[in-house]
Amino acid sequence: MVTVYSADLVVPMTAPPMPDGAVAVEGGRILHVGTRAWVLDHLRDEGRTVDERRLDGVLTPGLVNAHTHLQYSRMGSVGAGRYDGFDDWATAFSAVYDAGGQDWGAAAAEGARALLAAGVTAAADIATDSPAATALADAGLHGIQYWEVMNWSNAAWRRGGREQVIAELERVPRSPGSGLSPHAPYSLDAEPLLDIPDIVRAHGGRLHIHLGESHFEGARAGAVDWHFAGVESFRALRESGYGASATEFVDRLGVLGPDCHVAHGVYMAAEDRALLRARGTSVALCPRSNEVIGLEEPPVAAYLSEGSPIAVGTDSLSSSPSLDPMADVAALVGIARRQGYAGGDLHERLLAAATLGGARAMGIDIGPDRLGHLAVGAIADLTGFRMAVGSVADALAQLAEAAPVDRLTVVGGEPRSGEEEER
Ligand SMILES: [Zn+2]
Repeated sequence: MVTVYSADLVVPMTAPPMPDGAVAVEGGRILHVGTRAWVLDHLRDEGRTVDERRLDGVLTPGLVNAHTHLQYSRMGSVGAGRYDGFDDWATAFSAVYDAGGQDWGAAAAEGARALLAAGVTAAADIATDSPAATALADAGLHGIQYWEVMNWSNAAWRRGGREQVIAELERVPRSPGSGLSPHAPYSLDAEPLLDIPDIVRAHGGRLHIHLGESHFEGARAGAVDWHFAGVESFRALRESGYGASATEFVDRLGVLGPDCHVAHGVYMAAEDRALLRARGTSVALCPRSNEVIGLEEPPVAAYLSEGSPIAVGTDSLSSSPSLDPMADVAALVGIARRQGYAGGDLHERLLAAATLGGARAMGIDIGPDRLGHLAVGAIADLTGFRMAVGSVADALAQLAEAAPVDRLTVVGGEPRSGEEEER
């Protein structure tokens, strides 16, 4: 039995949008993609029994939320505030986090359900407390589960921090995928930042770091050739008068690469953005979180014009109104236009960022368990948007600017949310 998901418009991301299209699924993987007539004819010729599930609207690859912390899904009270920058927000966040008494596992499970309801099938999820470290695996979501590493001094790291983090990484489920998230250049000293990439690469995992989220990470006047100056940390580098950006700092420590993606990328000069491109490092843009925290808008027009690999994340509910990446896509459309981006490809590129771009950021766009695009052999992760479809351009514009919330979520070929009653 082959399941065929058909829709008024199918958007594969790695092929042109296809009116009256269909995706055939067998064993959790995509068997055929094409026009509905072609797919059904093909299956009939093969003598296959077909179960067709019709969606009135648009079918895309499953949405990928490329930056979130599901364990903070009950911290909406913090996310409902408005702040004067990163430090101001961090004070409000810490007041709740440090008070304790939270059930991080239950909160993360709640967040995973919210992802599925929003059409998200894969996520870059960062766990800071162990009860949250199985959230993706428990929910049957795809993506990478990152273990967060922060607040290690060089001395404490040498005294056993390194061994502790190796043991913690071993406890993160390897399925769907695992990695380490060194929190940020300013919350770890230089030695842990230098060691963590080696630890994770030896383990075969992925890296994810907050970068360019705080204003002081941007480049300053002053010497940048600090490499042999023996600085203990990024903060010490700045106190010594060096002007290198946080991006240049972590690059020298070997953090960047195609197996790493960064979150936010707000305070990034052209040189920083060029470094990310040179290293094959994607940036997950989280514009609604940036707005809540009171940051500037991310330079999305520059990223697009320069051809930087971008993805879309919501961040957590402690700094964002929802876990729906399509709301961030809509925000990015407005920001890109205000920044002067005039390309006619804006909608299509931002939709690609929220699907294929997120998969690419985590290295799961290729290989045996590839997703983020609709092509034969890929994992059958799909998102359906119930909406009236006119022209292809109008449908893509509506999706990018105001995506309907009535959605179907299919993970590995199985409907997980938003399935209509039998008609
Ligand atoms: Zn974050």
